[in-house]
Amino acid sequence: MTSPTTVALGAERQLLIGGEWCRSESGRTFETLNPATGDVIAEVAEATEEDVDRAVTSAREAFRSREWSRMSGRDRGKLLHRIADLLEQEADSLARLETRDSGKPYREARRIDIEGSIDCFRYYAGWADKIEGEVLPVSGPYLTYTRREPIGVCAGIIPWNFPLQMAAWKVAPALACGSTMMLKPAEQTPLTALELGRIALEAGVPAGVLNVLPGFGETTGAALVRHPGVDKIAFTGSTAVGMEIQRAAADTLKRVTLELGGKSPNLVLADADLSAAVKGASAAIFYNSGQVCTAGSRLLVDRRVHDEFLERLVDRARRMVPGDPLDSATRMGPLISQEQLDRVLGYVESGRSEGAKLVTGGDRPDNLRSGYFINPTIFDEVGPDMTIAREEIFGPVLAVIPFEDEEEAIEVANSSIYGLAAAVWTRDVSKAHRIAHALEAGTVWINAYYGVDPGSPFGGYKQSGYGRELGRYALDLYTQVKTIWIGLR
Ligand code: ADP
Repeated sequence: MTSPTTVALGAERQLLIGGEWCRSESGRTFETLNPATGDVIAEVAEATEEDVDRAVTSAREAFRSREWSRMSGRDRGKLLHRIADLLEQEADSLARLETRDSGKPYREARRIDIEGSIDCFRYYAGWADKIEGEVLPVSGPYLTYTRREPIGVCAGIIPWNFPLQMAAWKVAPALACGSTMMLKPAEQTPLTALELGRIALEAGVPAGVLNVLPGFGETTGAALVRHPGVDKIAFTGSTAVGMEIQRAAADTLKRVTLELGGKSPNLVLADADLSAAVKGASAAIFYNSGQVCTAGSRLLVDRRVHDEFLERLVDRARRMVPGDPLDSATRMGPLISQEQLDRVLGYVESGRSEGAKLVTGGDRPDNLRSGYFINPTIFDEVGPDMTIAREEIFGPVLAVIPFEDEEEAIEVANSSIYGLAAAVWTRDVSKAHRIAHALEAGTVWINAYYGVDPGSPFGGYKQSGYGRELGRYALDLYTQVKTIWIGLR
């Protein structure tokens, strides 16, 4: 393998600021680990407050530069297509890098993360020359119209569960709208964001339009949120950090959009196609080792089909053996870190001590002791008030909550501080829509789980955040409206 990605491994990975690769002002670096082995993959420069300040200056200059501000939408679209082309050319090596840095199975990294990122760049390439204003019918002798102008200098702060894809969700629409972006990848998974920075430069994105600043949340992330030169924060991560960001951003009244945690209910009714629902419920909690903000972590199942359903689901879970994520046969990799493993095992303990019935998993695979692996885990007879039914675990731990009737199912489903996603399995089309309307969630899937597409909006109700990424809705996040009045007298 001689792709640029693999050759660069081992060397210190630098910050991308103003179109240049540079070390941290402090000289500080941090290690990024392979979660499947615990081995260090690379040393990465850590962006300090001074680095953030330089990046903001370069992003502001780039935003105002003729080169970027006068670039036509069509030309911005071409740049985004070129990024997509380069991602496509390097798709295999990027997928390998994502697998090594995040632990997700190679097959899924290639098919979902990398393809999804390419699709996202192509989708917003198409929007770049279609960002329209309106002519408004006002009273009086005026011509009144709106322009959608770019919002300015943005910071994208992203998590470790879908590193490249979360970067694409923020960078692609921001650049399509003519804004500039500072990207702070999660400290656990900085590598593909840096590759995206390199690819953007190769594609011809002007210096400073995309800066990449690896570092930690409390330092690099907080410095971006505090900085008066940042106009907008687009954050994906935990609800606790989202709240902190919203508070800190208030001092400079930054625009903030938050895509936060979830505890998504997955409702299986007695008349569902049970085979499809078992597959869906298994993917909903075990995909990406449960490290998905929309994971179907609460399975609400009608008592009448509960026993049969659970038996089939447990059988499936036991066959989902964790393994080496680089092996193309592997369907489940490790968790991201020791810290996350400890947290998830702590939740398993709390499920046990609060009286839920552990039916499978809950432990680490004997043959995989060096990485952060855990077996697929299912708790049955979970009460809606138990900790494992209320808190986001971010691991492959399913809480099964039996219900008696539709009313109870909806009530339990909605009894959460979160509202990111939900799903319902039934063959009754009216019931399906009735329940979908009653569920308090930003996305509801019917007889499906995990439908995501760049063309379809994504975001939360309640404490799962606000703002909608993807689709044309994301254009609202990276533009602001100016109204222009022309007197006609
Ligand atoms: P997770 O629980 O998924 O690790 P976090 O919310 O802790 O999610 O992290 C998501 C992103 O937010 C990461 O890039 C992290 O570095 C960043 N982050 C964490 N704390 C802060 C903070 N106080 N201010 C800004 N960014 C932060």
